[in-house]
Amino acid sequence: MDRTPELGDIVEGYCERCRLNLDLSVAVITEGIVKQVQCRTCNNFVPFRAVEPESVRKERVFKRVLNMRDRKTSRSRAAAEAQRNAAAAATDSAATASASIQARREARARWETLTDGVDSTRALPYRPQRGYSEGDFILHKAFGMGYVESTSKPESDTPPQTALVVFRTGERQLPINQPSDD
Ligand SMILES: [Zn+2]
Repeated sequence: MDRTPELGDIVEGYCERCRLNLDLSVAVITEGIVKQVQCRTCNNFVPFRAVEPESVRKERVFKRVLNMRDRKTSRSRAAAEAQRNAAAAATDSAATASASIQARREARARWETLTDGVDSTRALPYRPQRGYSEGDFILHKAFGMGYVESTSKPESDTPPQTALVVFRTGERQLPINQPSDD
């Protein structure tokens, strides 16, 4: 530019908003020096910066790409980490679920073994007021046939108050020897 720049002149410079060398209109001149320009691409008023040399531009772009790649890598690392954690949690809950399924299966198998060939007429109808002993078969209205595995230890002269009964659906603690209502 040979002549003194004037407001509104189109100059080539670097727009820090567009991050490009672009045509800019001169907006502020102080003592013959262009201070501020308006980018004709983004319309922002930006401080005037001379055209960025190609080598500088290339290096900057290269750095930006590297940064982006780093960010992407750490992002994907974080994502992978989160995925691993989620997978671990899923495995844990699956293990818990399969453990409880396993426990149920075992309980069922145990019940089948215990009650195999037991005539239900031998089973005693369950009533909380009644007393039962280990090895008894009982018939519960809700849980079906059960095997009395143990009874709570009687304290001195009091009869056991609960029985641990194996039902098809699992073990249950039932009250026994309860005082009668009438
Ligand atoms: Zn711009």
